[in-house]
This record gives sequence, C-alpha cells and structure tokens, in this order.
Amino acid sequence: MSNFRQITRRNLIRVGGTAALGAGVAAVARPAAARTRNTKTGPYDAIVIGAGFAGVTAARDLRDLGLRPLVLEANNRIGGRVWTSTHFGTQVELGGAWFHPNYHRTYAEMTRYNLTTVVDAPPTSVYVRTGNSGYQSVDPVVTANRMEQLLTQIFDGSQNYFAQPNQPLFRSDLLASVDPLSLADRMNQLNLTTQDRNLIQGLMATYSGGDAANGGLTALAQWWALCGWNAQGWNQMTSARVNGGITSLVQAILNGAQADVRLSTPVVQIAQANNQITVTTQGGATFTAPVAVVATPVNKWKTITFSPGLPTVHADATNEGVGVRPIAAKMWLRVSGVPGRVFAQGAPGDPIASLVTHQHLSNGDNLMIAINGPGLNVGSLAAVNAAVQQIIPTATVVGKKVQDWANDPYSGGGWGMRKPGQLLRQLPGLHQPHGRITFAGGDMTSGWVGSFEGAIQDGARAASQAAALI
Ligand SMILES: Cc1cc2nc3c(=O)[nH]c(=O)nc-3n(C[C@H](O)[C@H](O)[C@H](O)COP(=O)(O)OP(=O)(O)OC[C@H]3O[C@@H](n4cnc5c(N)ncnc54)[C@H](O)[C@@H]3O)c2cc1C
Repeated sequence: MSNFRQITRRNLIRVGGTAALGAGVAAVARPAAARTRNTKTGPYDAIVIGAGFAGVTAARDLRDLGLRPLVLEANNRIGGRVWTSTHFGTQVELGGAWFHPNYHRTYAEMTRYNLTTVVDAPPTSVYVRTGNSGYQSVDPVVTANRMEQLLTQIFDGSQNYFAQPNQPLFRSDLLASVDPLSLADRMNQLNLTTQDRNLIQGLMATYSGGDAANGGLTALAQWWALCGWNAQGWNQMTSARVNGGITSLVQAILNGAQADVRLSTPVVQIAQANNQITVTTQGGATFTAPVAVVATPVNKWKTITFSPGLPTVHADATNEGVGVRPIAAKMWLRVSGVPGRVFAQGAPGDPIASLVTHQHLSNGDNLMIAINGPGLNVGSLAAVNAAVQQIIPTATVVGKKVQDWANDPYSGGGWGMRKPGQLLRQLPGLHQPHGRITFAGGDMTSGWVGSFEGAIQDGARAASQAAALI
C-alpha cells in the first residue's frame, strides 16, 4: 500500500492528535512451547535473507520456535521499504508509514513491544483537476462524497468474489472473470464523466505505479474487502503511524529474534544440496543452514542465482514484477507560501500524482509529502518547484528529500500491487517452498498485499513453513 493520502471524508473530518490505539489488541500469539532441538550441526538453523518486516518477523518467529536464525541484509540499514529518517530537522518516513485499524498483526506487534500511534491532522483544502485547464480548489466534503461513490462502484461485486477477505482464493470460481481485469479496464466499464475520470483515474494510476493498466482490480478490491467493503472503512487506511517511527517497530521485532545480523551483505547465490542450503554473499562469504527464508522484494529475486533454479511461478513473478514501477518516488518537500493543510490529487500524466501537507514548521514553511508523476525529474529542485506551482501557484519549494523506490538497488519497485491475473496464476505457487527455501514478503501475502501488515503476516507464514522443513 502506498502511503500517499487521498481525498477521504475521514481525512477531512478527523481531528489530529496522538492516540494510543494499541490497547485492547490481543498480544501476538506465541508458540506454546519452544522446541528443543537435539541435532544442531552448525551455528545456524535458518538463514533469513532481507531485514524488512517480513524478514525480521520470520527471524523472530524462528527464534520463538527455539531455532537460531542468521539475518543477511544487503543494505546498511534494516527496514527495507519502511525507513524512518531525519530531514529538515524532523522525523520523516521515506517509505511505508500508515496503517488501518484492521492491521491486527501490526497492532499486536506494537502491543508486544509497547509502541503507540500518532494520528495526523486532516487537510483543509483540496485541489483537483476539474478539466484539462488546470487545478482548482474544490469543496472538500462534496469531493470526498463523490470519491466514495466512485470507489463503491469500482469495487462492486467484491462482497461476493472476496467473501473471505483474508482468503482471497475462497471464491476462485468467481475470480476467473475479475482477476484478469486491470483498474483501467474496470474504470472503462463504468462510463465515467470527464469530471469523475479526473477524480478517480489519477488515484488508480498512482496506486499502480503510474498507469492504471498495470494495477490489478483484485489487488485494490481485496483492500476494499479487508476494510469492510465500504468507503468508511477504506478511508481509515491512513489512520495512524507508529509514534517514534515505523523503523522502531522493525528494530523491536529484530531484537526479539536475537539473531546474528549482517548488514551491507547482499546475497548473490542460494544453492541447495544434500539437505543443506549454502548462501553466498557479494563479498564471497558463504553461510550454511538446513533452511532459508528469502524475504527480499519479489522484484529482486531475479538478481540472485538459485541452484536449482527458481520454479516457473517464482521466475514469472520476479520477471513480471510486483513492486510498482516506474513511478514510486516519495518526496518530502519544504514549501513556503501554502496556506492551510492541502491535499491535491493529480490526473494521470501530471508531474505530481499527489501532494499533501504533513506538518507546519516553526518558520511558517510547510513540510509536504508528494508522489511523483511520469516525466518529473525528481532530482531537480526547479522541476519539482514548477510541478508544485502548477497546483498551488503561490507555493515555492525550498528544499526536498526524495526516495525513489523504483530505482532503489535493493527494492527495484515501490509498494506491492498485483498485476492483472497474478492473483490466480501465482499466489498459491508462491507460497510453496522450493526445496528447503521458503519465500516471504508483503508483495506475496494472502492478506493485505503491498503493506507491512502483509509482510508481517507472510513472514510468520514462511517461518513456520521453514521450521517444518528442518
Ligand atoms: C513509498 C511507499 C509507501 C508505502 N506506504 C505504505 C503504507 O502507508 N502502509 C503500508 O502498510 N505499506 C506501505 N508501503 C508498503 C510497505 O512498505 C511494504 O509492503 C513492506 O514494507 C514490505 O516489507 P517486506 O519485508 O516484504 O520487503 P522490504 O521491506 O522491501 O524488505 C526486503 C529487504 O530485503 C533486502 N534485500 C534485497 N535484496 C537483497 C539481497 N540480494 N540480499 C540481502 N538482502 C536483500 C532489502 O534491502 C530489504 O531490506 C509503502 C511502500 C512504499 C515504497
């Protein structure tokens, strides 16, 4: 899930402030008893590759089962596509950040590690394209209402084909005619007016990495189902963030793994023979263990040499990609001359896909978050400034910090978003082990695909599968 905001009634009406929403959520289920192993032949029972949410959850769950994990992470930091950092003198989230009240696993982890949540203030002004001419400030409530009606139309039928939202294949019979559709196909079925198209198309294109033809209808329809099949639930997807930053939750889970963790250690080869996995790093080091959990983005599997080679379904998934491309840069902008708290939604092809005020700074400037659109040179302050001024002519961008996930060497894409047809063709196969290797990630979960909730869920699934292989 991307954490760009959208026009929602909740965003417009909710009050800001800080809330501890974790209370009352059941603690993470722990194994009844850690297993006792009597045949430990090497220093590690499992090698986990990747220290994003999926990898750290897998490592922690393996430890909870009495196993000894090694975590190999390519980057010089943990977190993967979540990254709490400091810029403009304040804490910023360069990747995923927001979560929905139905993120039960995330809330359970926060309860386990005593973390609380923060809620952001809603926008007060909304800008959208009302024609081909440019942006206009529009009535926030009227616009939010229309957006809700359009979303309801787009996802109509999902009560049936996603009758069990966490088991997306429960009605695979009904999905056969829906899963091949892209979000663009679905919008074309609805005969939308130009005004409605302007409102909804930009949002759908942004979720899809720049082109709604690349986003599977079922990917977003499953979120709609997980949110309760209604706009009220959908509007809560940007309900809260982790107080202290999302990376603090990744770190807390990793601490629980008591793992040997090697940062700046990209894995280049994973071989399996004689009931043993041998992992080779870019630096030439080798590590062995009875099993491995591959918790890198699906887009990056193709950069690792597997021996024997990947099963067809895994090879197809990594070649097609799941993490969205080519548009997935999250930009933090320091902007002067912006009154109030703004939300703007770009139309497809616009240089800015979405723009939202995050925080007022003490000197009167604003900290704003933007997602790029096609053709924007995100490296150029002048280009970004010109793009923002198309929306708010009084604005001046005086500083920026950009994280371009599509071109990040260890992500190769932004948030996961299944393409048309990928759910039925690939999900069941991706969850099968490849010999003594299991795979995990938010890109391939059966629940909230493209979210850290999904990454936690899938890391847990892959860990228990790996433990059973030993
Ligand atoms: C801009 C943006 C906004 C988002 N907004 C939200 C949001 O608001 N809410 C939400 O729930 N989700 C959001 N997401 C999605 C969410 O961040 C991801 O779904 C989730 O973090 C994925 O976790 P993961 O562990 O599956 O993968 P990753 O976090 O990508 O972790 C994979 C790890 O593998 C490592 N790796 C890669 N190759 C190798 C290798 N060869 N050897 C060793 N290690 C390797 C990577 O460095 C990385 O640390 C957003 C994502 C982006 C990019």
